[in-house]
Amino acid sequence: MTTERTLVLVKPDGVQRGLAGEIIGRLERTGLQIVGMKLMQISDKLASKHYGEHEGKPFYAGLVGFITSSPVVALALEGPSAISTTRKLMGATNPADSDPGTIRGDFGVDMGRNLIHGSANAEDAVREVALFFDDSELVAYDRATQPWIVE
Ligand code: UDP
Ligand code: MG
Repeated sequence: MTTERTLVLVKPDGVQRGLAGEIIGRLERTGLQIVGMKLMQISDKLASKHYGEHEGKPFYAGLVGFITSSPVVALALEGPSAISTTRKLMGATNPADSDPGTIRGDFGVDMGRNLIHGSANAEDAVREVALFFDDSELVAYDRATQPWIVE
């Protein structure tokens, strides 16, 4: 179990629908630690960097249009297995295939409105956290509860 950081975005649909608190709360309750968090408008430039791997795919233009259409909440979460834990809580990419109890399964019905982004792997996580947060925006702090969360 290695300590990792991962990037989470509550996408524009999550913010517009008033689900940011619910989504962040589910992640927070796992014990993962919030080390960065901000409401922000994603620019076209940032969107194309973030979603560069999908350039050329049929859904790319719609995806970039959507992610830049309205603010997102960006979070950097830290903890043991932060990347896979977050991905499990998110559910499958298509909410129609997401299990009940997952964020996408509980709140989504459409692939293009799936509420949340989470880094897919360790390499993406490092790149994406750096893309969305300056070093000065990542806050190191001790939690009194930490020994009750991690052995
Ligand atoms: N997406 C889409 N149509 C598709 C595949 C993906 O609209 O056929 C969108 C969807 O919002 C997804 C994002 O593109 O979250 C990135 O796709 P990826 O395969 O990386 O899924 P994720 O990592 O978000 O589960
Ligand atoms: Mg992805």
